[in-house]
Amino acid sequence: MRQADQVRAFLFEGAGIRGRLVRIDQTWREMLERHEYSADVAALLGQAAAAGVLLADNLKGRGSVHVQIQGEGDLRLLLVQCDHALNLRGLARGERLDGEGSMRELLGEGRMMVTVDPGPGQERYQGIVALAGESLAESLEGYFRDSAQLLTRLWLGVSGGSAVGLMLQRLPDATIDEEDWRTLGLLADTARLAELAELSAAELLRRLFVGYDVRLFDARPIGYDCRCTREHLDNVIRLLGREEIESILAEQGGLELNCEFCNKAFQFAPEEARAALGGESPDGSTLH
Ligand SMILES: [Zn+2]
Repeated sequence: MRQADQVRAFLFEGAGIRGRLVRIDQTWREMLERHEYSADVAALLGQAAAAGVLLADNLKGRGSVHVQIQGEGDLRLLLVQCDHALNLRGLARGERLDGEGSMRELLGEGRMMVTVDPGPGQERYQGIVALAGESLAESLEGYFRDSAQLLTRLWLGVSGGSAVGLMLQRLPDATIDEEDWRTLGLLADTARLAELAELSAAELLRRLFVGYDVRLFDARPIGYDCRCTREHLDNVIRLLGREEIESILAEQGGLELNCEFCNKAFQFAPEEARAALGGESPDGSTLH
């Protein structure tokens, strides 16, 4: 049976190898709403979203994970943020977001930055890798190898209305049988994206990893939650600067800004926009 918007961890008993399965349906579609992304741009964003969830599901505290893919092609940025409760949001930015093509054709040369914020009182961690090979999965494998020192394989993709992912990873500090690792990778290579999107986790693991004893953990639901507020947009107002804001106010009598993630519009009256700038009067002297 189909189970939407969830991630499930599993463990190969006695092998020192764990895995995760992720499927994002509704949440991914909400991410695409009100944006004019081509199918290929949407697919890359879906893969980045699946990666974000796979990383965030490993958080122990109340933190978040940011996956940022920067390119030099028509597509400049894919940004996905997922917190410890698996609230997910993401966006694509670039010169053109309606282009078709492979990851390389859309992004060109680029790099992937993974920022793990483990939560209050703990230090942020950032790993940066160059985009490698022909898929985001390959680049992320490079991140795990170079930055997290965790032997990892990843399969990411989209199928129908779902973004899906499968991860195999050596348990930290575990000794593994190289033959097991190679075999499990080869078996996972045979998984089709449609199977990842349509089969239940139990059924998929049973079909893929015949002969292995797999312990399946409880599913965790994924949700879309942009958490955008007017206060967040105050930063955008400050970035635009006084001159730009005053010119918009003079022309339009007010200010409308859209959240970059969900595209929701926020209206600011002139006094609200000026308050966000920091309470300075147009000539630069302080009002308070
Ligand atoms: Zn928003």
